[in-house]
Amino acid sequence: MTNSLRERALHVLQTVFGYPAFRGAQAEIVDLVASGQDALVLMPTGGGKSLCYQIPALLRPGCGIVVSPLIALMQDQVDALAELGVRAAFLNSSQDFDEAMRTERALRRGELDLLYIAPERLLTSRCLDMLDDVTIALFAIDEAHCVSQWGHDFRPEYIRLSVLHERYPQVPRIALTATADADTRNEIAERLQLQAAREFVASFDRPNIRYQIVEKDQVRRQLLEFIREEHAGDAGIVYCLSRKKVEDTAEFLNEQGIRALAYHAGMDTATRARHQSRFLREDGVVMVATIAFGMGIDKPDVRFVAHLDLPKSIEGYYQETGRAGRDGLLADAWMAYGLQDVVQQRRMIEESEADIAYKRMQSSRLDAMLGLCETAGCRRVHLLQYFGQSSEPCGNCDTCLSPPFSFDATEDVQKLLSTIYRVGQRFGAVHVLDVLRGVASHRVKQWQHQTLSTFGIGMDRTEAEWRAMLRQTMAQGLVEVDHEQYGALRLTEAARPVLRGETVLMLRRHQKPLRQRRAPAAAGDQAQASLSGDQQALFERLRWWRMEMARVHNVPAYVIFHDATLR
Ligand code: ADP
Ligand code: ZN
Repeated sequence: MTNSLRERALHVLQTVFGYPAFRGAQAEIVDLVASGQDALVLMPTGGGKSLCYQIPALLRPGCGIVVSPLIALMQDQVDALAELGVRAAFLNSSQDFDEAMRTERALRRGELDLLYIAPERLLTSRCLDMLDDVTIALFAIDEAHCVSQWGHDFRPEYIRLSVLHERYPQVPRIALTATADADTRNEIAERLQLQAAREFVASFDRPNIRYQIVEKDQVRRQLLEFIREEHAGDAGIVYCLSRKKVEDTAEFLNEQGIRALAYHAGMDTATRARHQSRFLREDGVVMVATIAFGMGIDKPDVRFVAHLDLPKSIEGYYQETGRAGRDGLLADAWMAYGLQDVVQQRRMIEESEADIAYKRMQSSRLDAMLGLCETAGCRRVHLLQYFGQSSEPCGNCDTCLSPPFSFDATEDVQKLLSTIYRVGQRFGAVHVLDVLRGVASHRVKQWQHQTLSTFGIGMDRTEAEWRAMLRQTMAQGLVEVDHEQYGALRLTEAARPVLRGETVLMLRRHQKPLRQRRAPAAAGDQAQASLSGDQQALFERLRWWRMEMARVHNVPAYVIFHDATLR
């Protein structure tokens, strides 16, 4: 690698993008691709993948072609680049014919540094013929995990992208993704014929994000409290499972004086686009969304990501939470999790039309996610372990900050399991807990369950405690729900040894939810924490000025500059 290439790369970084130094493996990746070789880059969301192809594209002769499935974001990306003086354009189905023709002409004349193309567009023979005639600096294949048939973002067109290698063997290719597991990585390498490419696996740690998983109680109130106490006036994303819950939650937040917008796939395209653009451009908007929202969203100052429902997998959870704190300042990943989540997710898998192998895989993904929720250890250690990275307890997650204690719950769980058994494995959680706690409800009396030997043997614990224990036994697969029997609880094979007293069962008990402010040690030297009254006022005025500038230039506020700069 020549020194001068590295110097030129740094020069571009500083003069075009305005950053003083490369981050992590960026420098090495830029070197490699700029000198004509292939790379496969795995970096967490917010890690800084874009520069890895944008800078080589500027250093090499010709135009860099970026394949991306995220049509809705191309306009913003191109605008942001234009603001920096980079000649960028896009081709996708959202633009009219004239606009596309203008872009094609600019490409042919060599007037473009970067061209974003949707995969289905790129693969047309018209588009490939056009590329035959121009100098191509590189191919960047963004969101490369879309090539994986097992993943949740599978796009069939991605598989055909191997044509790029066959047709332009001399053009370097760089594939990028935030999905890290080894299977996906191998699948990408194989399907895109990148076996010979150098792999870069960045650390998946996002130290500025504080992870917190709280026990679900009254979830909307909990969310409101969390936002009011920790994130008043901040931009954030709230994920919900269903469209209805998205709309209800957004409405609720607005009633409570928090500026919230809804986003889900059932809304019309124009409204969705409007909400997305308001979220990106305005300060302090909370986006309440299904997971349809967020892929490729590059908003650096998202201060929190909240989950009101359990994500289906750790991959999904990590991608979604990764949208917080991309500017490196402190951010929160907050989730409320409860018994109903376990029931609902298991049910969705059971009732899906997919084949056995797929269901099994979904199930093991869910188990891993539940493991994260129920761990008594450091959340970050657990997360990073999942991505094959070992680490030390972080001091910046809920379990590190207020460790839950584990206790021997064998006897309690035996009481619970026996009660489920005694009521004939034909009743749901409410009824089982009533019997256990000696509540002679109408239903209990109707079935004469007050005469059972287990009636009232669990009076010493609160309903919330029993729910938490039931949830954990379900997460561990001792109890399952029979959806055909209206949610009746049933014992599994795994319950036997516990009932017979052959295994000791340790469960965790939450401490009071985390309330104290962040530990300063974990926060590092970030200037975020304390602005004095005057400084805060000045900050607000600058923020206001930035919003005006953003409006005048019609770009997101952070393109003018980041919060970090502002401070
Ligand atoms: P990814 O695509 O990996 O999710 P991005 O490429 O969008 O991440 O980068 C995330 C954020 O980090 C962006 O706001 C970007 O401007 C910023 N960033 C990337 N590289 C650097 C760097 N070397 N120095 C400072 N900021 C950077
Ligand atoms: Zn921790």
